[in-house]
Amino acid sequence: MTTAWALDQADDCILRAAFGCYGGTAAARAAAVHVVRRVQATGRGCWILCDCRPAADRPPALVPVAETHIRRHLQAGWPQHAEACEFFREPAEQAVISASYRPIHRSQVRLVRSFEVGPSAPLQRREPASPANRRPQLARLLIRLLTEAGLQRIDPVASKPPSVGEQLSPLWRAARGLSLDRGVRVADALCMSLAKLPGLMEQITAAPAKAYPRTRPHGLLLIRLNEAAAEKLIALNGQELPVVGRIALYGERPRDEPGPAVSARSPYLALCILARPTPVDPVQIHSAYVHPCASMGRVMLVDSDLERETLSILQAFQWRMARRHQAVVTIEKPMDSLGPAVAEDGTPLPPLIPDFVVTARYRDGKERRVVVETMGYADEGYRGRKRVLHPRMGRAAGAMAVLEHDFHLPGHWQQEWRDNRFKRLLWQSLGPEELAAAEPAAARQPANTIGDAERGAMRTFPT
Ligand SMILES: [Zn+2]
Repeated sequence: MTTAWALDQADDCILRAAFGCYGGTAAARAAAVHVVRRVQATGRGCWILCDCRPAADRPPALVPVAETHIRRHLQAGWPQHAEACEFFREPAEQAVISASYRPIHRSQVRLVRSFEVGPSAPLQRREPASPANRRPQLARLLIRLLTEAGLQRIDPVASKPPSVGEQLSPLWRAARGLSLDRGVRVADALCMSLAKLPGLMEQITAAPAKAYPRTRPHGLLLIRLNEAAAEKLIALNGQELPVVGRIALYGERPRDEPGPAVSARSPYLALCILARPTPVDPVQIHSAYVHPCASMGRVMLVDSDLERETLSILQAFQWRMARRHQAVVTIEKPMDSLGPAVAEDGTPLPPLIPDFVVTARYRDGKERRVVVETMGYADEGYRGRKRVLHPRMGRAAGAMAVLEHDFHLPGHWQQEWRDNRFKRLLWQSLGPEELAAAEPAAARQPANTIGDAERGAMRTFPT
């Protein structure tokens, strides 16, 4: 017979601080010894079970060892912890992951290895990229190009919005400041249209090995996509682009279940490496990183379909503020962490990346800023992590509040009411002061639904 009982909350916190991915200092481990000892003293085979995978046949287990520490039980038949669980990674692994979400500043980018040191043929695979994993180099380059070109930011426009070609043109300037190898600027080995792809492939084919002394001749294709399939990418015009190696597709997975990526929908923006996979092969698409973008007409990267809905509300707000109140609203979608990867005591910190940062500037010079978070999941673990991260996110962004655009709670509301509540919070926080009390009728909702949930959706904190 087996029995199970719940660890009390104090012991739970002690174990997380000692052995979770955001803990692990010597002091925290020493403080956890008495808890491990007590569990182990209960009897042989007394394990600690984790509640991060409620739908699994068995829970993930942690085994006490030598009355001092616990190890993750990774044998057949026992599931891994959920990606979002603090016991999914060791602190040392998490430190590397968190560091990969920090912005990079060096001008040299190394994407492929020279044939002398690299393995010959790349492995063909398609895999999800998610915040639980290290950000790939190709993703970091794409994000850097878009951020430096100002494409992760939307300013109000007087007339019609810029075309995709106009949006992409500042990217060349960013690409001139980066190099793929000694003397090879990204701008000289980049193409952004299928029409120019054959020319770039010929250029790479003809390049002598000594032109790329540290890598091998290669280049980059930046393109919008309809789809990322198993072994190929499908461009907007339907053209299929086979990929010989890895396709990494950004998309958040469900929080407590393994499985395919969800929330990622076309259109996408993809950055692809063009190179010979082996010395005897022709130049091909070697690997690709694929990330959803805001819309057919806007290349700004977004993390999910729900973020697109939040963005459309923000753009409508931006337009009305410019039109009716002569206030300039800027919408930014940061992609890099605003905080350090490691705390002062050496423990890793989770990446701090707000979904949107929205700033309103008035003609009298007054400026107000909020962080906007798309709340895409209902589970308590997700909500709990957001409760911890939001105040830190707000402070790091210099914002006065974090506004939540909720897609799940309150559960008995229609989505239209939740959208209206979010609009009202936006007007209250960033709108003209005379409007803060009397918000526009469009942002009002049924009076009987305003309760605790209403107050809970906006958190302010001392800055
Ligand atoms: Zn777990």
